[in-house]
Amino acid sequence: MSFADLGLSDDLLRAVEESGYTEPTPIQKQAIPSVLMGRDLIGIAQTGTGKTAAFVLPMIDILGEGRSRARMPRSLILEPTRELAAQVAENFDKYGKNHKLSMALLIGGVSMGDQQKALEKGVDVLIATPGRLMDLFGRGKILLTGCDLLVIDEADRMLDMGFIPDIEEICSKLPKQRQTLLFSATMPPPIKKLADKFLDNPKSVEV
Ligand code: AMP
Repeated sequence: MSFADLGLSDDLLRAVEESGYTEPTPIQKQAIPSVLMGRDLIGIAQTGTGKTAAFVLPMIDILGEGRSRARMPRSLILEPTRELAAQVAENFDKYGKNHKLSMALLIGGVSMGDQQKALEKGVDVLIATPGRLMDLFGRGKILLTGCDLLVIDEADRMLDMGFIPDIEEICSKLPKQRQTLLFSATMPPPIKKLADKFLDNPKSVEV
C-alpha cells in the first residue's frame, strides 16, 4: 500500500514526497483512511513509528476544506510537553505548506501576549500543553466551542504527569459532536477509561 492509496489529496501527496517518504508506516496505513472518513481512533503506538504524520496528514486534508467563518479554532492537539508540541507544529509546517492553515502553539515558557495575538487573529489549529491551554481559557482568551477535531497525544505520558483531570475538563468544553483521536504507547486502565468516556465507537490500531 502506497501513500496514494490512503485517500490523501494531491497537495498532501506532494508534500509527503518532498519529505522523502516512499512508503507509509504501519500506523499511517491503518489510521489515515479511518481518520479521513471521520472516525474516532485509538492508536497504540510508540514515538518513532510515524504516528505524528498519522494524525497530522489527514488533519490537514480535513481542515483544508474550508476556514471557519467564526474564526474560532477548529481543532486542538494536546501534547504532554513543550518539546512534543513544538515538534507537532513543525510537522504541520512541513506537510501543510501547500495549505493555508493557521496555527497557534500554546505552551509554557513563551510570552502569553504573542499567543493571545495569534488567537485574536483566528487560527485553525491549536497545539497546546494542558497547563497553558487551561490558563488561557481561564482568562477568557479561547473559545473551544468550534473545536470538533481533537487529538490527545501521548496519553500515557499525560497520565504520568498528572494531566488527566485537565484533559477531562478540556474535553467537556469541546462540542460533543466531534472527532477524537487518542494516541498512547500503552493502555493502562485510566487511559482506557478516558477513551471510553470521550471517544465514540473508535477504531483501534496497534503497531
Ligand atoms: P514520529 O513517530 O511521529 O515521532 O516519527 C518518527 C520519525 O519518522 C520522524 O522523523 C518522521 O519524520 C519520520 N517518518 C514519519 N513517517 C515516515 C514515513 N512514512 N517514511 C519515513 N519516515 C517517516
